[in-house]
Amino acid sequence: MFDIVIVGSGPAGLTSAIYAKRAGKKVVVIEKSIEGGQVATIGKIENYPGFAQIDGFELADNFVRQAKSLGVEFVQDEMIDLKFEGDKNIVIGSKSNYEAKVIILALGSVSRKLKVDGEDKFLGKGVSYCATCDGNFFRNKNVVVVGSGDSAVSSALYLLPICKTVSIVSKYPELKLKGYSKDILNKLNGVKIYYNSNIERIEGDNFVEKIKIDSIEKEVSTDGVFVSIGRMPTTEFLLGKIELDEKGYIKVDNLMHTSRRGVYACGDITNNTVKQIVTATAEGAIASMQALKDMQK
Ligand SMILES: Cc1cc2nc3c(=O)[nH]c(=O)nc-3n(C[C@H](O)[C@H](O)[C@H](O)COP(=O)(O)OP(=O)(O)OC[C@H]3O[C@@H](n4cnc5c(N)ncnc54)[C@H](O)[C@@H]3O)c2cc1C
Repeated sequence: MFDIVIVGSGPAGLTSAIYAKRAGKKVVVIEKSIEGGQVATIGKIENYPGFAQIDGFELADNFVRQAKSLGVEFVQDEMIDLKFEGDKNIVIGSKSNYEAKVIILALGSVSRKLKVDGEDKFLGKGVSYCATCDGNFFRNKNVVVVGSGDSAVSSALYLLPICKTVSIVSKYPELKLKGYSKDILNKLNGVKIYYNSNIERIEGDNFVEKIKIDSIEKEVSTDGVFVSIGRMPTTEFLLGKIELDEKGYIKVDNLMHTSRRGVYACGDITNNTVKQIVTATAEGAIASMQALKDMQK
């Protein structure tokens, strides 16, 4: 039986692990994929304090090595269910089960994909899912934002002063704005919007060079494609076990408690709105410190 089982080895989970282990707890981190989480797949990061610029893989590796050097145990497994037996919380994995006094869920979220040819091939080579993270790498270049909602508009607004040209490809006849008023369109002055359009494929050699949009005959030259069609949590298996919001994110209070005693959540998987490394690490620290406090009671 572990004191704390942490699911997910991104910045949130690893920060939790570092705090818990330093407090002398028996901790295991369960990871189904790459140790270090999304960060390990990012190119350059320029907004994590302490590093003016750092390679995503290097930062992720630093997190992992710090946790391992403290003696945090890592297991390669996928959590597929969660069970509660009295005071015991049990993570059901596809390979094994893990009993703990406390469970910290740091599952992250995944970007919705366009599911078109070239999208996976050019990930990090012109295809991005995060304008605030990667926009600076497209300074004075031509970029296309794919999406119709607030996040697509927010990406376009962010990219506008940085890039040479910004276009939006929206599958609808108009943008579907919830947070922004229609006046925002004035601020998008200079942004070409392809309405009723979908990207059919992304092409290039080593980097993105052009895209095919279904509503126009000719291919469109571009250096970058920012996919802003939303992110999604993968929490279907938690339905009915802990409270989720309408999008499937885990509801937490400001101390990272979920609706179930002994289960905490942190990072991109929570219903908090800012999804960045610095907020993931902060929430990871809060989850762990609060869990330690609650365990003492
Ligand atoms: C292309 C890109 C660029 C970005 N650039 C920046 C940037 O420059 N600056 C910045 O601050 N943020 C950036 N971000 C956002 C940042 O990566 C995330 O906010 C951060 O990684 C969230 O950390 P996390 O620990 O909550 O989740 P994640 O990093 O997503 O880690 C979650 C981990 O949980 C694992 N997991 C999920 N479900 C299960 C399961 N059932 N069983 C076992 N393991 C599971 C996943 O495999 C993953 O490793 C970027 C994101 C992307 C996609």
